[in-house]
Amino acid sequence: MSLPIAFTKTERPATPNPWVLSDRTLTVFYGCPEMPRLSHYFLPRLLFAKKQILYLDGANQISPLLLARFARERGVEPSSVNSLIRVARAFTCFQLTELVRRVPKTLERFSADVLIVTALPDLYFDEDVRDPKRPDELLVADRGGLVFVPKLGFTPNVAELDFVSQFPSIMARFNISPETVNCPCCPDAPRIPELGYRICQKRRGITSRVVERLIAKRCELKKLLKTTAPDTALRFKLQRDSMKWLLVCCFGYTGYKNARFGKIEAHEAINAVARETLLVAKEIAEADGFELIHALVDSLYVWKEGATREDYERLSQEIETRTRLPLAIESVYRYVVFLPSKQYADVPVPNRFFAVAEDGELKIRGLECRRHDTPPLLGRMQHEVLAILAEAHDYDSYLQKLEIARGVFEAYEDRLTNGEVDIRDLVVSKRITREPRDYKKAGVTAIAAQQLFGSGVKLRPGQNIEYVITNAEAHVPNDRVRAYALWEGWFGYDRKKYGAMLREAFEPFVLCVPKRAEPILLSDSISEDDLDRFPLFSALVTSRP
Ligand SMILES: [Zn+2]
Repeated sequence: MSLPIAFTKTERPATPNPWVLSDRTLTVFYGCPEMPRLSHYFLPRLLFAKKQILYLDGANQISPLLLARFARERGVEPSSVNSLIRVARAFTCFQLTELVRRVPKTLERFSADVLIVTALPDLYFDEDVRDPKRPDELLVADRGGLVFVPKLGFTPNVAELDFVSQFPSIMARFNISPETVNCPCCPDAPRIPELGYRICQKRRGITSRVVERLIAKRCELKKLLKTTAPDTALRFKLQRDSMKWLLVCCFGYTGYKNARFGKIEAHEAINAVARETLLVAKEIAEADGFELIHALVDSLYVWKEGATREDYERLSQEIETRTRLPLAIESVYRYVVFLPSKQYADVPVPNRFFAVAEDGELKIRGLECRRHDTPPLLGRMQHEVLAILAEAHDYDSYLQKLEIARGVFEAYEDRLTNGEVDIRDLVVSKRITREPRDYKKAGVTAIAAQQLFGSGVKLRPGQNIEYVITNAEAHVPNDRVRAYALWEGWFGYDRKKYGAMLREAFEPFVLCVPKRAEPILLSDSISEDDLDRFPLFSALVTSRP
């Protein structure tokens, strides 16, 4: 983005009237601490001119109540105002940098006319960060949670161990709070790993005290939930969930300079302890002969040949004792299958796997059946296949079940190639990222959007449209796809394309099975029998020197 910059100096304003935002100009307002509130002055005018606004809020300046007030004062529905604005908050300069970096991507989904960023200079010149850090120190300090990439493929008998409310527990256990980090009274306190920050040993931190109570309350509610009849349990469940969100906020706001109890060092310290905890847990598990097959921020997936639930409980106990943080067995799985990225077959990704718990319950991440844009046919096939695979207990039974599952998949494939599939089962639902006329490439979504637009349907970026692929390779773009709303019986569906999509949706289940070697057609050991059956072979064999 290269825009002229207009400075707002009082002696020589960049625009004839400094209180009007000029078009296609980057305007920077900087000065008194009240400056971020200036956006309140511009917002109503922009909103009632129906301008779409992307608001990156580094100063905690915007609230739904404020927008509702604007709407009320004008006598319009608050929802009409809400639809025009998208808000993302940043608590630290790192988060703001990330938000700014993502603006082009965001604009694909939400075509904003105006971008407002508050506290852009303030977050970078943060007086709370007393010792200016070197760039490499910033890098160490800002690393978030730790991830160990998963071991690809089938692993039987895996336990998932989760640290309970990990970040708040760290705040409570290690007394990390804005006023306890690098306090002046304890120069010789032990240091936080990686960062070297000190934590006060004389005073109990205020946020540490608060989260401690919230954690205790949440535990109580959890226990109550287990002993309460289902009809009254909902109340406890909602209370427990609200405790969880309060705890998330207590942690999140430590990283937010403008929060009353915000201090970036506290946030960094909590993250550093979390990373250290995961490393320690890994060491303990490995010392006990377990293998860590995946770890992500606050959960570990461990495995050991022949380990029982009791073994995993003992391990969990030991990690809890050593790290002094509560750890619980989330589940012991009969097996877990970690899958590679869809783009790169040898690159493991943390969010694509399926697992079957001891009681047969499935945990699925990143498969087509979890996505909303998948044609129902693909999702149903995956669910049916998974239901069969869930009966497997080990690798051998997995292979057996896979053969049954393959039968299910092939039945789907047959119905697809015979043209017997109901068109409703093939509807793809996609979110459009721009105005129909603004699409430059004739992708299927763009074509479907333009068909709808052409027949008078009003569409805005961010809306979902539904279509059926009719002939993905058609020369005329308009023949490739048909908006479902305009569907007429005589369009056929693209059997080849849907067949490929169906095969791709079955792929995750066979990925963990080593591929069978291709039958060798041409070898030196051709039997007389082969020569009789395939005359071509005899020609080839005799032509060799
Ligand atoms: Zn102290």
